[in-house]
Amino acid sequence: MTGRMILAVDIGGTKVAAGLVTTAGKIVSNVRAKMNAHGSAADGFAAVCEAIDLVLKNERRANISAMGVSVPGWVDANTGTVLSAANLPSWKNFRLADELEKHYRVPVRVANDAKAAALAEAKWGAGRGYRSVFYATLGTGVGTGFVLDGQIYSGRRGPAGEGGHTIIDFRGPVCGCGKRGCAEMYISGPAIAREARERMAKAPEASSSAMVKLAEGDAANVTAETVAKAAAAGDSLAKEVLDEMAERLAIWLGNIIDLLEPDAIVIGGGLAELAISLLPKVRKNLVGWACSPGHEKTAIVKASYGAESALAGAAALWFADAKMHDASGGKRKMDRKKRSAK
Ligand SMILES: [Zn+2]
Repeated sequence: MTGRMILAVDIGGTKVAAGLVTTAGKIVSNVRAKMNAHGSAADGFAAVCEAIDLVLKNERRANISAMGVSVPGWVDANTGTVLSAANLPSWKNFRLADELEKHYRVPVRVANDAKAAALAEAKWGAGRGYRSVFYATLGTGVGTGFVLDGQIYSGRRGPAGEGGHTIIDFRGPVCGCGKRGCAEMYISGPAIAREARERMAKAPEASSSAMVKLAEGDAANVTAETVAKAAAAGDSLAKEVLDEMAERLAIWLGNIIDLLEPDAIVIGGGLAELAISLLPKVRKNLVGWACSPGHEKTAIVKASYGAESALAGAAALWFADAKMHDASGGKRKMDRKKRSAK
């Protein structure tokens, strides 16, 4: 492999992916190791190093200009500190960038995984060419990021852009974040499954639903995938669930469009395909759920990076445009700017 590359790391609750990404956003290698999220902070760090070392085994250090890391939690992007992450309980105020820089002697940047993925899509993927891009990953949870003029909008310290935890119904179910009725409780995979189970429990014709057969008779086995498959086969109950999903998506995206009016909304994550298939209905519903003039002109497109979006995003952290949108400054950030990747 020739040319300098970014060593990208995507840390999850159960696995660590690491790989090399070119300056054009191409992932040229990708390895996985097990994450140790429930031991000590040092155990977690050792697991991350294991994945990185696997990449370094096959690549000359001289070819690596910097390291980028994405983490599923609250990150202070200025200092590269993991403030907290539900799936990584041993890392509280863990100075991940510092630790990695000490260990590998390359400059390191760290960001929340959805925000990093947003940047990769805006820079190299489906959001390329748009000035403002709102990215949403829909899966087990809902992660989002907003990129303006090639920069992640992070707020004061990094947490801005948590669209998954904006409220759709203040009387709704309690979310993992502690609030009620978050978007995540309505448009995630578990939310679709919950809606399906609730409808199956109420509907007299539920026993003949294709969802029951696909779930082998046990409603507890129903997933978003079950619903999508049953709806595709013409099951009326499953179609109702997806109609509801299309309405909820429109309510949420209507809020986002009225607040940010992005040029493009990029949908990624495990439910991306399903969400995009609902787009004609979502568009129709948006008429009632967005009020800003011209809202219908916002492009809504499927993400280019699939499961590797946060890995590409980790690398993209080194290719964000120079202008910073947060005003907090700080020595650490200045250091990182000076040592930016070539
Ligand atoms: Zn929430």
